[in-house]
Amino acid sequence: MDIVITDLDPRFKHEVAKEEGGERVKYCFQCGTCTSGCPVSEIDSKYNPRCIIRMVILGMREQVLRSDFIWLCSTCYTCYERCPQDVRITEVMNALKNMAVREGYIHPAFRAQAELIGSHGRLYEIDEFTEEKREELGLARLSGDIAEVAEIFKITGLAELLSEASQEPVRTASA
Ligand code: SF4
Ligand code: SF4
Repeated sequence: MDIVITDLDPRFKHEVAKEEGGERVKYCFQCGTCTSGCPVSEIDSKYNPRCIIRMVILGMREQVLRSDFIWLCSTCYTCYERCPQDVRITEVMNALKNMAVREGYIHPAFRAQAELIGSHGRLYEIDEFTEEKREELGLARLSGDIAEVAEIFKITGLAELLSEASQEPVRTASA
């Protein structure tokens, strides 16, 4: 990845450090222990927690927040337990995801899940066949009323975020 010095934002690391979960990001000394034990890195070299922390320190704000790799952390906490500097990378990834969402960058997979919940009140549409099977088993029909879901989406700002995010595709970046 090319780095353009004038595009770097020196305030970015301080912003991340102020975010809940990102407080210890500046303690990283790039030992690589997190990456060597990360199961996601093992199967997808695009995901490299050491590199992501380095990009934050360098101020590569756009490349980090608009990336799809910050969404790949499986929150297994292996790095959290092994980091000699107690950077708490799992929490740093959550902080980066929260910052990305606030700026309208939502990974398409999460956006699709939110849209499904907004449309059906759950991740899977319950069709008539499923309702009949439930009745045969003595289970109640599932309500199709999603007014409460719509209200939650409105109150939390998720409806607005989803509408903004649909205008702004998430960019793939390589660490
Ligand atoms: Fe940085 Fe900790 Fe990862 Fe080492 S294990 S590179 S100190 S975050
Ligand atoms: Fe990798 Fe995330 Fe697990 Fe850390 S918590 S080892 S970054 S998958």
